[in-house]
Amino acid sequence: MQNFLQDIFYRPLRDLRISVIDRCNFRCTYCMPDKEDSRQYSFLKPGEWLSFEEIIRLTKLFVDCGVTKIRLTGGEPLLRPNLVELVGKLREIPGIKDLALTTNGFLLTQYARALKEAGLDRITVSLDALDARLFRQMNGGKGNLQKNLEGIAVCEGLDFDTIKINVVLQKGVNDGQVLDMVSYFKGKKAVLRFIEYMDVGNCNHWERRYVVPSREVVDLISARFPLRPLAAKEFGEVAARYEFVDGGGEVGFISSVTRPFCGTCTRGRISADGKLYTCLFASEGVDLRAPLRAGANEAELSALIKNVWQNRTDRYSELRTKIRSNPEPAHKVEMFQIGG
Ligand code: SF4
Repeated sequence: MQNFLQDIFYRPLRDLRISVIDRCNFRCTYCMPDKEDSRQYSFLKPGEWLSFEEIIRLTKLFVDCGVTKIRLTGGEPLLRPNLVELVGKLREIPGIKDLALTTNGFLLTQYARALKEAGLDRITVSLDALDARLFRQMNGGKGNLQKNLEGIAVCEGLDFDTIKINVVLQKGVNDGQVLDMVSYFKGKKAVLRFIEYMDVGNCNHWERRYVVPSREVVDLISARFPLRPLAAKEFGEVAARYEFVDGGGEVGFISSVTRPFCGTCTRGRISADGKLYTCLFASEGVDLRAPLRAGANEAELSALIKNVWQNRTDRYSELRTKIRSNPEPAHKVEMFQIGG
């Protein structure tokens, strides 16, 4: 029977992001830049990843706690062997209304059809530029723009509920790409979402001056392609949605820096090694893998999950300025460990 679990601020646990692997074949500058400090990180070994059986067991418990939306993330989730099999198993769990995946797109042409046939509802692809040189610059020289565009085109030919294109804007880097990207995707099934550059993890050397406020992007686009705001589809929706006045579809803006949305945050995250994090900017996670492997039963695991969420007070983005004013801010989990 589905209960609705609420945290200290009465935010329900409704979305679960499951990182199935911390490894990635890209080195995006805003997540895992190919620099000294991120090179220090030692990736999990396969035996340390939650097995598919463990992921299924935990997911069922989260669904019993009110979760209806599952998003598979990484690192790069398509690097996890047999991921299509996991999608199929998750699809069988009653109560999951929305099964989505976020990918860097490199392996999309290879897996898109199988993912759809296994039951995936929605797909989100990262694509930070349409300029091939800039695209490669932003992912550490690992990506292939044409391959990504082909992968997106394949997805557009398949019956996904939605296809989202995530663009992390960095001032002086790819903010000059906005109108080209709108021109390319306007009228297509894929929906662009411009994301404010965030201080995730510890190794992207974030500075506020490199953030392009969404307000400016809305104004820039609207000057060429008039926009009007749309109402949120549901409580906890991350992106502010707009539609093109001329009927050319939608575009979204995720503004964690200039318009924090912690007040309606319904997202829990599980890392590939089975830790439960209650915020993208958390420092600590609660280990679910150890009790799972030590023989804890469903009631014990469920009690652990409930206790974590009911005591949740996270609202990092609302407190960012204050938290960052601390000369020794806490070490944060890396985005590639828990997904965006
Ligand atoms: S900063 Fe944390 S609490 Fe706020 S919206 Fe993001 S994940 Fe949720």
